[in-house]
Amino acid sequence: MQDDRLLMSSYRDEDRDTDVSLRPKTLREYVGQDAVKQNLNIYIKAALKRRDALDHMLLYGPPGLGKTTLACIVASEMGQNIRITSGPAIDRPGDLAAILTNLSPGDVLFIDEIHRLSRAVEEVLYPAMEDFALDIMIGKGPTARSMRLDLPRFTLIGATTRAGQLSAPLRDRFGMVFRLELYSPDELAQILKRSSGILGMPAEEEGISEIARRSRGTPRIANRMLKRVRDYAQVRADGLITRQVAHEGLNLLEVDNLGLDKVDRTVLSAMIDKFSGGPVGLDTLAASTGEDSLTIEDVYEPYLLQLGFIQRTPRGRMATQAAYEHLNRPYPQQNGAAGSAQVGLFDEDQ
Ligand code: ADP
Repeated sequence: MQDDRLLMSSYRDEDRDTDVSLRPKTLREYVGQDAVKQNLNIYIKAALKRRDALDHMLLYGPPGLGKTTLACIVASEMGQNIRITSGPAIDRPGDLAAILTNLSPGDVLFIDEIHRLSRAVEEVLYPAMEDFALDIMIGKGPTARSMRLDLPRFTLIGATTRAGQLSAPLRDRFGMVFRLELYSPDELAQILKRSSGILGMPAEEEGISEIARRSRGTPRIANRMLKRVRDYAQVRADGLITRQVAHEGLNLLEVDNLGLDKVDRTVLSAMIDKFSGGPVGLDTLAASTGEDSLTIEDVYEPYLLQLGFIQRTPRGRMATQAAYEHLNRPYPQQNGAAGSAQVGLFDEDQ
């Protein structure tokens, strides 16, 4: 069911090819995230000067914001190769040992969804990150002994949508931790201009800004919408992406003028209609909308929070006045601010 959604910003097959061709190759081409770029620029230059591998780095933020892209850029700016894998792909400690022993000095190892590594695999990672060593057990029972294998100096770049789920010992082993932020419409417009150029799509400035405004702060969604609007433009409007074409194309996809899709609206109306605006716990909300709670938390909530449509309180999520207004619902005055007088019987998950 989720696969036909435009806004699911996690990876989809149709993105695979364009993701690669649209990926900026240098820090200079990488739009936005200025604070992260500034820091990285300094650390990369310093590491190059010392002829040393870069410190391990954790990137976190919602899907589609450019974590993989940034990892590839770091490797290429360091003049090194990158090896890309993900938490769920590394099943057993032996899988990770095989990857680590195949690295060359200076290589970048990128582990996406690093919060999904099992504890046993994590244990292999600790000495690898800290001492560039692999501890292997030889034999079994009383004669078993552990042997230490030296590994080349490498840089681990971990990416996660949820830094909070990382175990403390793993988090502590990253020398740098960067949080990626949602992009502004101006930054998304720059990204879209570049993408339309690469993909050879004629687009007017206003058409681009219309898509930018509705792509909920996420480059992957912006690029995906651009492709859908191009299809619409080719069939209905001689191929040129104007403001009107973008507007109509996105309306057809049921993306509203702020970039909210059907699921966002379902979540907000459930909060308002079924739970009087909240507070409501994430799992309850998920059950009542038929969505997965992780998807709501990772994919939908960051943008709704950024728009100021929901607030997180210790008692659960609350819909704000702005959300009521956006959905054309009357705002009950006694609802007041988040964390108001409503007291639930049960303290829910947050
Ligand atoms: P993540 O790993 O965070 O899920 P990706 O790095 O795969 O996200 O980015 C998805 C797509 O968005 C990339 O293919 C790239 O085209 C585009 N993108 C992401 N960040 C930027 C950026 N800062 N500038 C330009 N394009 C970007």
